[in-house]
Amino acid sequence: MTKFVFVTGGVVSSLGKGIASASLAAILESRGLKVTLIKLDPYLNVDPGTMSPFQHGEVFVTDDGAETDLDLGHYERFIETRMGKVNNFTTGQIYKSVLEKERRGDYLGKTVQVIPHVTNEIQEFVMRGATATDVDVAIVEIGGTVGDIESLPFLEAVRQMSLKLGPNNTAFVHLSYVPWIAAAGELKTKPTQHTAQKLREIGIQADALLCRADRPIPDEERAKISLFSNVPEWGVISMWDVDTIYKVPRMLHEQGLDGLICDRLRLNTPPAKLKRWDDLVYETEHPQSEVNIAMVGKYVDLSDSYKSLIEALRHAGMRNHARVKIGYIDSETITSENIGQLAKFDAVLVPGGFGKRGIEGKICAARFAREHKVPYLGICLGMQVATIEFARHVAHLTDANSTEFDPGTTTPVIALITEWKDKDGTIKTRDEHSDLGGTMRLGAQSSDVAPGTLAHQIYGDVVNERHRHRYEANVNYLDPLRKAGLVISALTQREHLTEIVELPQSVHPWFMGVQFHPEFRSTPWAGHPLFNAFIAAAMVHRDHQAAPDHPVAVANLKVVA
Ligand code: GLN
Repeated sequence: MTKFVFVTGGVVSSLGKGIASASLAAILESRGLKVTLIKLDPYLNVDPGTMSPFQHGEVFVTDDGAETDLDLGHYERFIETRMGKVNNFTTGQIYKSVLEKERRGDYLGKTVQVIPHVTNEIQEFVMRGATATDVDVAIVEIGGTVGDIESLPFLEAVRQMSLKLGPNNTAFVHLSYVPWIAAAGELKTKPTQHTAQKLREIGIQADALLCRADRPIPDEERAKISLFSNVPEWGVISMWDVDTIYKVPRMLHEQGLDGLICDRLRLNTPPAKLKRWDDLVYETEHPQSEVNIAMVGKYVDLSDSYKSLIEALRHAGMRNHARVKIGYIDSETITSENIGQLAKFDAVLVPGGFGKRGIEGKICAARFAREHKVPYLGICLGMQVATIEFARHVAHLTDANSTEFDPGTTTPVIALITEWKDKDGTIKTRDEHSDLGGTMRLGAQSSDVAPGTLAHQIYGDVVNERHRHRYEANVNYLDPLRKAGLVISALTQREHLTEIVELPQSVHPWFMGVQFHPEFRSTPWAGHPLFNAFIAAAMVHRDHQAAPDHPVAVANLKVVA
């Protein structure tokens, strides 16, 4: 039978509940348990797919095509179990489901209410997520802060679950905040006392309190928190600021969090083995060199918007024993006059994005990287701008554009599938998935990779990656692009959707655009072969810049699998 750990949060948001939940899951996994994670989001949006990354951070995409909260990215990076549609749901989805049942008459004329109908629905969704894979423990992270109106139905639902399942099958972990008041020179425990009390008012007694602070919390304060919160002292765990998230599993383990949870849930397991986490920390703290990547994007000052991408670059850095420094460049400020600023970087990356803003700056960046033989990786939108740039400046298709940025372009090298028309107006490629044209292409899909290409060195015969986009390279322009020298290294067989474009290595040492999002598959253990290769290419470029007399050893480009 699956056991549950419910993780709630108090006082303020952004304390790192996702990392705390993922870390606990990772420690339990290292004790030989099978673990999954579920995230409940207390907002009314049906999914985060339509929410601005400025507000909500990145939209993480799973293999089965769910657009989810970015915490699911942490989960997949921390544990082995893969996430899917059932691992994240919102109040919006719960209400949608309840209202559909109501319309169908499923409630047999009863008055439909928050308790029990909404709370029952929440429990069903939690059970569905927990039983989708065969696991020993499901960790359920409840978004929002205790005391908010929004999260009340979730808290009520999990309280009922713990009553039904019994005390040895459920545990509660509450994340709180202990501020340092500089004027008084003291850590203040009052907000934590109050949030634990608030939780008890709702009927939930925390088994462990994770106390976030900018520094370790001394025993005296921990004792005080214990007294007021009714949590035994060994359950009051200090969670201080650290420079890398990989330190969190060891920090929580050293203070006995996993031992406490296993006791509570009557789980008899071998001790935790955290050596792989210690190795990660060592690797992060002992880089042998540094590499500078220019990231030319739109959401420049909000690293949450590119969470998985930044992690993937870091992972690839660790695999290459290098510290990756990312220079964020706002594509709206780039012009052909100031593009020379990119020369100080070892590689250029244009990430995914939506809408027209800053597009010409990104095209300039792709051109600079192509002409100056700087390693270039274009992801999703970054592949599309590289294709447009190549079409304009190499294939002489001067009006080339995407219909996303210029609906009236005479040369739609990037367009919706439904816009790929032959001269007689019929859609050139079509099969049972032709409705893709109006909607997002989401989730994992595979395609063959052409032998002899850079992509083939990285992926082998088949590429399988996750997608999240609407526009595609227009099949009608592939021939002129190929003639001008662009290599289409992966193309889906049936629909002729371009997955990877690159320049031959005889022309450019490392230039690649991918229509998918490889960053969602990167892990701290192995990195991701594409990012590993990109960072290796950046290092070769860096070394060549430092000693230009030595020819670039293209053949030596190291692909770290
Ligand atoms: N806006 C582009 C599209 O919809 C690219 C999307 C992305 O980069 N995720 O196709």
